[in-house]
Amino acid sequence: MPQKSPFQLDIPQTDVLSYVFPEGKQPSDKPIWIDANDTSNALSPRQALQWVKRLGVGLDKLGVGQDEAVMMYSSNHIFVPVLYFAVAGSGRLFTGCNPAYGVNETSFQLENTGSRLVLVEPKFLDVVLKAARKSNFPLDRIYLFDDKPCEELQGVKDWRKMLGSEQEARSWQWHRMSPQESKTRTAALNYSSGTTGLPKGVMVSHENVIANVEQSIFMRNLEQPYAPQDAPAERWLGFLPLYHAYGQLWSITAAAVTQTPCYYMRAFNYNEWLSHIQNHRITHIQTAPPVLVMLAKRPETANYDISSLQNILCGAAPLSKELQNEVSEKCKLKVVQTWGMTEVTCSCLHVPGGMDDRSGSVGYIDPNSEMKLIDEAGQEVGAGERGEIYVRGPNVCLGYWRNERATQDTFDEEGFLKTGDVAIRDEKGWYWIVDRKKELIKVKGFQVAPAELEAVLLENDDIADAAVVGLQGEHEELPRAYVALKDSAKGKVREEEIREWTAKLVAKHKRLDGGVKFIDEVPKSPSGKIQRKIMREWAKRDAEEM
Ligand code: AMP
Repeated sequence: MPQKSPFQLDIPQTDVLSYVFPEGKQPSDKPIWIDANDTSNALSPRQALQWVKRLGVGLDKLGVGQDEAVMMYSSNHIFVPVLYFAVAGSGRLFTGCNPAYGVNETSFQLENTGSRLVLVEPKFLDVVLKAARKSNFPLDRIYLFDDKPCEELQGVKDWRKMLGSEQEARSWQWHRMSPQESKTRTAALNYSSGTTGLPKGVMVSHENVIANVEQSIFMRNLEQPYAPQDAPAERWLGFLPLYHAYGQLWSITAAAVTQTPCYYMRAFNYNEWLSHIQNHRITHIQTAPPVLVMLAKRPETANYDISSLQNILCGAAPLSKELQNEVSEKCKLKVVQTWGMTEVTCSCLHVPGGMDDRSGSVGYIDPNSEMKLIDEAGQEVGAGERGEIYVRGPNVCLGYWRNERATQDTFDEEGFLKTGDVAIRDEKGWYWIVDRKKELIKVKGFQVAPAELEAVLLENDDIADAAVVGLQGEHEELPRAYVALKDSAKGKVREEEIREWTAKLVAKHKRLDGGVKFIDEVPKSPSGKIQRKIMREWAKRDAEEM
């Protein structure tokens, strides 16, 4: 029997914009999205809503249709929530591109989403223009996107030029979705490779977003020594990338709903991060294991007063209980783990926010959700046994954008999502992640799809075949390629050359930093599939020898 959450929440059945700005309620004047470097550069919900309306008018005038995508290529700044709410709230699809992406990766997402409009931070314009040309995307549908007005660049105008006037905005109304629409209409297309293959657009519905915010806030408030309404004032740091579900959930939507000031950082830099915690007296952080490694190991940690920090929520990649406890003790705070993936909007297992858990568990199942663990034979297993997590709930995505086949393969006949992560559950319903059986590699919490790197490698004229797998280090995983050269290249090409060649074509986190090794042949099944289990064994053996 699937395990059910003991808690049941009433999830508002509406669209994302109506959820954050409920009808009949005046939006507050309290600054919520704040530039960490310049706190006078901030937006309150009331200000944000005015911008949302002006942008809504602009999108209508540009003829961006309902259920069409708008792509953002930008680092974090305080107008990203405006874009997110305006696009999703007006019935369009928000899609964020990782600003580390190169031309090919950007062009892929542009074409795959069928985006009708692109907003790009000026410093990234070159990549986006090249990607647009590659994809035959009309250049007049690209706008510069920054938090301050900017001059026209290479013929591309500031996004403020396409906004409606304040007067037009006053009469602009968004369509408030019915409960049924909120379940079936997509708010965001967040990219993930899922259990296999290339990155795919995960269709996150309005209900998904709202449910996952409600679930996450509920779990965060559980076991606290105070009632949520009496919670001490919190301050968050918005450094999780906003093109990713994790940043969208906490730094955009949950910040608005809980009225928590969130200080935005453009890019992550450890010393700046520490100084923002110190200067803004940050109380809560949502992050991934690499940041905990820095907190525990880097000497600079001692140079800053980070005593305001009470709680770190950590997800996105495996975190050992040793590291978790080291950080808890060293920084005198609680580290609570969460588990999730883009396909569940963000997360669906949490350690309650008020608990000081030291066991390395990722907690228990969120309200309104069900989970089962399935073994290799396809049978459900009970407490104490390993099984792949299957999950069903209001936060589980609608499927993959324009990819019915992948959608079908990802859900079982009862509508449970197959996650590709292996866990053990105890008698009380607490989970521990013990393995990942899908292809996905996670580098510093970012996704790397082996299939994507393999496709890049196969474009090299010297390569006959290639397979990519994660090499596990003490605290990190790195992509490693096993490459079979063409006969003509044998003895002439060096492993290091392949690594350098790849580095020029992919985002930094996808580089083959786990190394390249030449082999005679990639092990394949009779149907031609790479035998990833064997590859993983090779990587394990190589890691031990290194
Ligand atoms: P993403 O879709 O980018 O959020 O990546 C989701 C994947 O990250 C999951 O399927 C897991 O493999 C991994 N992951 C997320 N949270 C955790 C965690 N707490 N422990 C171990 N792996 C995790």
